[in-house]
Amino acid sequence: MSIPYYDCIAHHALRRPDSLAAVDLATGRRHSYATFDDRISRLAGWLRSHAGIQLNDRVAVLAPNTTDTFEVQFACGRIGAIFVPLNWRLANPELRAILADCMPAMLVYDPEYTDRAQELAVACGIGRLCPFGPAFERITQDEPHLTETVAATLDDISTILYTSGTTGLPKGAIITHGMNFWNTVHSMAMAGVSRSAVFLGLLPLFHTGGLNVFSYPVFQCGGSVLIMRAFDPGEALRLIGDPGVGVTHMFGVPANYQFMGQHPRFLETDVSRLVFAGVGGAPTPDTILETWQHRGAVLQQGYGMTETSPLVLVLDREDAVRKAGSAGKPALNMEMRVVGDDGTDVPAGSVGELWVKGPNITKGYWKQPEVTAASFTDGWLHTGDAALIDDEGYYFIVDRWKDMYISGGENVYPAEVENVLYEHDAIAEAAIIGVSDMRWGQVGRAVVVVKPGLTLTEDEIVAHCAANLARYKLPHSVVFTDALPRNATGKVHKPTLRKQFGDV
Ligand code: AMP
Repeated sequence: MSIPYYDCIAHHALRRPDSLAAVDLATGRRHSYATFDDRISRLAGWLRSHAGIQLNDRVAVLAPNTTDTFEVQFACGRIGAIFVPLNWRLANPELRAILADCMPAMLVYDPEYTDRAQELAVACGIGRLCPFGPAFERITQDEPHLTETVAATLDDISTILYTSGTTGLPKGAIITHGMNFWNTVHSMAMAGVSRSAVFLGLLPLFHTGGLNVFSYPVFQCGGSVLIMRAFDPGEALRLIGDPGVGVTHMFGVPANYQFMGQHPRFLETDVSRLVFAGVGGAPTPDTILETWQHRGAVLQQGYGMTETSPLVLVLDREDAVRKAGSAGKPALNMEMRVVGDDGTDVPAGSVGELWVKGPNITKGYWKQPEVTAASFTDGWLHTGDAALIDDEGYYFIVDRWKDMYISGGENVYPAEVENVLYEHDAIAEAAIIGVSDMRWGQVGRAVVVVKPGLTLTEDEIVAHCAANLARYKLPHSVVFTDALPRNATGKVHKPTLRKQFGDV
């Protein structure tokens, strides 16, 4: 079934032109639906006619959060191009791998990243560069409007969102217009997103959390999206507490709520007006839930993934305290299974891998049919998360089935860091495990075997990683040993490694 993709910005520009669509908090720019629509139309016209962007061409964006990024996203939708927001926290070698995978026709970038963008464009053969700032303003204000919108359908690709994956190689999760549509339906049903929603966006727009929880659904409904360039706990509290701003919706990883809860302004901020304060992306310590509860805000757990675009489980407001620690019950339209190693369902109360099915789930990874095939069984997506269902039907995410840990809300896949360690000439064997950390939740610990006759220090290892990886992926400690524990097939046995060198 090919239902046409429908442009929500154009829709609201017709019905409610003066309503506030988006606020760029860093610059103070405010766009009504009419001005937003106008800017997007001119940008789309320029992308097609001047920059030569064709159907299904990729347009990558490397920028801290700005409302300009949404304009690129919606302009791409109008001309059938594919929007690829890039994680600016990655190091250039990592971004090169992603750009080599998706081969964008254009890289749009923030002036702060001019050097990086130019280097990447040369290295990856990207023909066109477009900086945000004065040149972008001229395009969105002066260029002729797009004359004809493409006839895209809900099955067409809207976005590619990159996740690292357990192989350490980038995987581009394909997000269709239909997945975005269903995510809106689910956000309306599960989180009360509506045209009166005023959403405060804290999370980066290169991540499904920032893009889809709840920016896109709020635009679909005709509400207002306020976007922070970078998360600032004091400023976020000021906005939440200001009745003139009227923030109703927010979503963050546990660290966002932790840093706001520790801020001096927290105790004088009225947080009780929030209709939906969602938390997810990583397990949330009870202390954070309690801190916010004491101030009159109920944080609601949500669970999801990039590949599920993303809502899968949500804990209802009335259960948030009684069932603290649970990620809730299935969101609308979600089917779930918890299965053992043999692919059959485990009984309630037992831990297995969570498998999910639903209309918001990706069809697969960009240009990676083998990885896609390995991620599904009969249409069920293997989430890689270990879960159990209690006797009341609530889901608990107990661990990662896959080998990953989360540092400050960002996924770190050990295999990726291990690949870099193995590039060092003095390293014979290396493995990364996640260990507890007061500040970041978890951080990496490298367990390293040095080649006979050579020497290597902790600082040298971290420096080697720093040249190739984003900061949040760097190991915070290094342990030297004689040999890594391995299983019968010769694979490093992570449970033993964690017992020997971790904190379990
Ligand atoms: P991403 O694709 O970056 O959104 O990461 C998805 C992963 O984050 C999931 O596979 C889980 O491992 C983890 N995650 C998301 N939400 C939760 C939650 N509420 N509790 C525990 N882990 C979560």
